Amino acid sequence: RTPGTPGATKVREENIFVTVRVRPLSRREQASNDQIAWECTDEHTILSKNLNNERSTVPYTFDRVFDMNCLTQRVYEEGAKDVALSPLTGVNATIFAYGQTSSGKTFTMKGITESAVKDIDDHIRNSPERDFVLKISGMEIYNETVMDLLNRDSGPLRLLDDPEKGTIVEKLVEEVAKDSNHLRSLINICEAQRQVGETALNDTSSRSHQIIRLTIESCLRENSTRVKSFVASLNLVDLAGSERAAQTKTDGTRLKEGSHINRSLLTLMTVIRKLSAGGRMGHIPYRDSKLTRILQPSLGGNSRTAIICTMSPALSHLEQSRNTLSFASSAK
Ligand code: ADP
Ligand code: MG
Repeated sequence: RTPGTPGATKVREENIFVTVRVRPLSRREQASNDQIAWECTDEHTILSKNLNNERSTVPYTFDRVFDMNCLTQRVYEEGAKDVALSPLTGVNATIFAYGQTSSGKTFTMKGITESAVKDIDDHIRNSPERDFVLKISGMEIYNETVMDLLNRDSGPLRLLDDPEKGTIVEKLVEEVAKDSNHLRSLINICEAQRQVGETALNDTSSRSHQIIRLTIESCLRENSTRVKSFVASLNLVDLAGSERAAQTKTDGTRLKEGSHINRSLLTLMTVIRKLSAGGRMGHIPYRDSKLTRILQPSLGGNSRTAIICTMSPALSHLEQSRNTLSFASSAK
């Protein structure tokens, strides 16, 4: 935590924490003389600028805005850490990266995951009075098909309704992490597995959602008996490119892909909007997509959510960035 920054020290009651991260101009954007179209005026505010460098009069405000010089470690500390650590006290949590393709979702989630793993491991090692079991699973949702990132030989996985546990992913491999190095190697397998799909299926990653789920089981030891256990999950979610949510008619196959991506992403967006409206908007359609069914126990209710909206600062992406900020505003 950076001392003296208002957003960092404030205790928050809200269950959905919404931040925006602007990445630096890419080399390609620089080479084509693209302009920077946004300015972060303080830690909560971002404005678009016009070509004469005049500020737009309509600022967007969020729980936190991270400008293009901000390191991922800081994004983690101030935008995700509290949420990432809440499963250590039995509270389910989800961290999303939302934004158009190439806005920095995967870059950000990789760093957030690394930091979260380190902090969770530290916490476990500094809590000798408790026994922890840490499990990991990885899923990819592409065209409303769920694949196992830890078991490349499995086919599509089915979702089943369990009367006690709610929606479960049938046959999903869940590995027990022996230590933090083992955990990191399992996370690497998930990330590598997703990239295999990417080359085979022509940039799947921009169209698929990846979930890395860490499940923490905890037991308190008193004398020689174990008491009071809880189980909670942290879901680290790298979403499909948000441009898909806006995409409409194309040719047959693309339409199919588009509509399926739209289903999970659009349903998630609706669920988040309704949750942030605090139940004033009635029925929450968790069951309308695979992504929201899988995440339901870790979205809403008593659980905690961090949404990191990523965007390019480039003028050429102005429209997509506005779409991203408009979703981010509706999630607050
Ligand atoms: P997405 O997953 O949203 O499609 P990526 O995370 O793959 O986007 O980012 C696109 C490119 O921009 C990658 O080369 C990545 O390394 C780079 N990048 C993204 N965010 C940052 C950042 N904050 N600082 C530096 N480079 C970044
Ligand atoms: Mg990506």
